[in-house]
Amino acid sequence: MNDATLSVGSLHAQPGTKARGTVQADLGTLTVDIPLTLVNGTRPGPRVVITAGVHGGEFTPIDAVVRLADRLDPREVHGQVIVCPVANPPAVYQGRLNISPVDGVNLNRVFPGDPAGGPTERLAAWLFAHLVDGADVYIDLHCGGIDQVLRDFVGYRLTGDPDLDKATAELAGSFGIEDVILGLKADGGNSHAAAARRGVAAVLVEVGSLGQRDEPTALRRVDGLLTALRHLGVLDQDGSAPAPIREWVWSAGVTAEAAGLWYPEFSLDADAYVIGELVEGDVLGRIVDPADGTEHTVHAPAGGRVFYGMHGLTVAPGAELAALAVPWDPDAVSRPDTLRTPGAGLGSDETAHRP
Ligand SMILES: [Zn+2]
Repeated sequence: MNDATLSVGSLHAQPGTKARGTVQADLGTLTVDIPLTLVNGTRPGPRVVITAGVHGGEFTPIDAVVRLADRLDPREVHGQVIVCPVANPPAVYQGRLNISPVDGVNLNRVFPGDPAGGPTERLAAWLFAHLVDGADVYIDLHCGGIDQVLRDFVGYRLTGDPDLDKATAELAGSFGIEDVILGLKADGGNSHAAAARRGVAAVLVEVGSLGQRDEPTALRRVDGLLTALRHLGVLDQDGSAPAPIREWVWSAGVTAEAAGLWYPEFSLDADAYVIGELVEGDVLGRIVDPADGTEHTVHAPAGGRVFYGMHGLTVAPGAELAALAVPWDPDAVSRPDTLRTPGAGLGSDETAHRP
């Protein structure tokens, strides 16, 4: 029996109950209301924290976790599930961008945050102190933003702790998403990386493109979350076998070096966005200066498959144009000379993924 009350701030759920509400987070120059659903099972089990809305303009994750929160019955839950559909209210409600309109900071670059820092750093610290630090498992949901095409994938980071890495790998493979991309180090300010450094089994789940809010994608994502919760033992098994996965490792992230108009060369189908395989040196696209027509050709710094790419026409220096991954060969990790520098050419904090 679980007889512990589940509490986050002023919100409490007794065993066998579900509580919905908001908890106020003080960000220094402003306060924000963080919506939460607490599902406190009657039976023992892990504590699973699920967030969406770390970025604005990523609608389907928010839709999906609200549906999941509606659906979870505390009488069926082993352990506890905390669902936070809007982790970053300023970015979600005002501006719909990856950066917060409050201070221009990307929340998913500053975890685990700083309680004495700027507003977004304080928000990161609040989310860790109130949600992630008490969790056994952390699932952060994203999708391709309004300017981004994306292939579905699950991401996680290796920490060097074999038990944690094994548990996280198995979790990553439990969503029914075929492609799992791992980062070889748990560095940087991404939510799942920072959580992994704290010993939490943490994954990034990416489903959907272009900020679309289509219901089938949301439902697919709810199904994936339910499958993962069964894998974790939070919900009873239904006897289904796990779907096969393919493991990848990031090979390159490409950012714009000039402002201008982005014309990708990798194949973009208007509906399906078929993004091809590339070899090192392939032309990824061109950035054209709208004033004088100057062209900057952008090459792939490594081969691989594009897992997400810039769809927006207008880009500024530093904008992420594409991220590539190659099939993972675990043996290559022990022979670093044979593995291209992971994350070569990537932005500072990820093995490629801004999502
Ligand atoms: Zn995102």
